[in-house]
Amino acid sequence: MATRRLYYDDSFLKEFSARVLSCRPRATAASAATKAPSWEVILDQTAFYPTSGGQPYDLGKLGGAGVLEVCDRDEEIVHLADRPVEVGEVRGCIDWARRFDHMQQHTGQHLLSAMFQKHFDLPTVSFHLGAELCTIDVRGKEPSEEDLERAERAANEMIFEDRSVSVRYGTAEELLRLGVRKEVDREGVLRAIEIDGVELQPCGGTHVRSTGQIGMILVRRCSKIRQDWRVEFVCGGRAEKTARRDVQLLREAAEKLQCAPEDVASSAGRALAERDANFKKIHALLERLGEAEAAIALPSAAAGADGLRIVSQAFEDVPAEYLGFFGTAIAKTEKTVALLGLAGRGDLLLAQHPSSGKDMNAVLKQVFEKFGGKGGGTRDFARGKLVDPSQVGNALALAREKLSGA
Ligand SMILES: [Zn+2]
Repeated sequence: MATRRLYYDDSFLKEFSARVLSCRPRATAASAATKAPSWEVILDQTAFYPTSGGQPYDLGKLGGAGVLEVCDRDEEIVHLADRPVEVGEVRGCIDWARRFDHMQQHTGQHLLSAMFQKHFDLPTVSFHLGAELCTIDVRGKEPSEEDLERAERAANEMIFEDRSVSVRYGTAEELLRLGVRKEVDREGVLRAIEIDGVELQPCGGTHVRSTGQIGMILVRRCSKIRQDWRVEFVCGGRAEKTARRDVQLLREAAEKLQCAPEDVASSAGRALAERDANFKKIHALLERLGEAEAAIALPSAAAGADGLRIVSQAFEDVPAEYLGFFGTAIAKTEKTVALLGLAGRGDLLLAQHPSSGKDMNAVLKQVFEKFGGKGGGTRDFARGKLVDPSQVGNALALAREKLSGA
């Protein structure tokens, strides 16, 4: 038997009486998230909205039982309850905060879709009402930033005008005569929603009484999704919450930047430019420091029997690029080799003056064969990173051994 849908004619009905026609344990859990058992309750009439047309189901109570989910099964509405409900009379109570939020989002969607259609000839091909955000997918030319703002403003003007929202019934032909926006091929009497002077649209959802109750519409952003444009928006209480959060974020950013909220963008731009300039300065200073320290280190490295001078050093607390500056400076002198490491990070750098006649890349490979690591380079310059940073000292010792052995 078809369940009578009380929300069709009164979407503001929060409590109602009904007869429980059946209550059966459900074979599978209500949702994957909850493993708890549930019962399928069928009533003769209900104010609970089942998931449909992009609008999620209602929550609430049936007597002492909590309603976990509501779905449409053919003509019947199935309430999933967290405990059995006795056959007979029962009081139903809708979680009104959730439902009213859905009504604000859903009616707002009608309005926003109508504005995209009217001003930009962009039809809505799908609608999603999420826990945080709502989206519509519109099809056609990409809406510009100005288009999004204009659609938002036009929708909000309709809200300020507080136009009535009413339910109409009629056959497909009758609705077509009344100017329904999209054609329907369903038989029998259809339900349509009319926003005064804006649109007439077949819809089985729940809506507010007048556009003023949507409160306001805030369009967030637009992105490409397959061949369509996904527009994110929030209405009513969600718009208020979102605007509040945006203001808080802006204030926090302003505090961090030590500026007024209206100066955040320019102040952040300045801070980033300063950071980039400092980065360049530090880079130049490191290079000079590397050259200076190399000049100090070189004389203390005695030449071996083969006339080769080896500077081997493990650095601490320097950026990895410092090894490059230091090593390059060392390798400028004939018959010298630099074997460098970065303690705690595992970076290795081997460099030589070409006259030294060794193969840095081959030595590095031998080191990694023993200690594990990744990297490479040329005969004169090779760098990489050890898997285990604590092996830097041992790796440098091995490299020295390989040099004298080779
Ligand atoms: Zn609707």
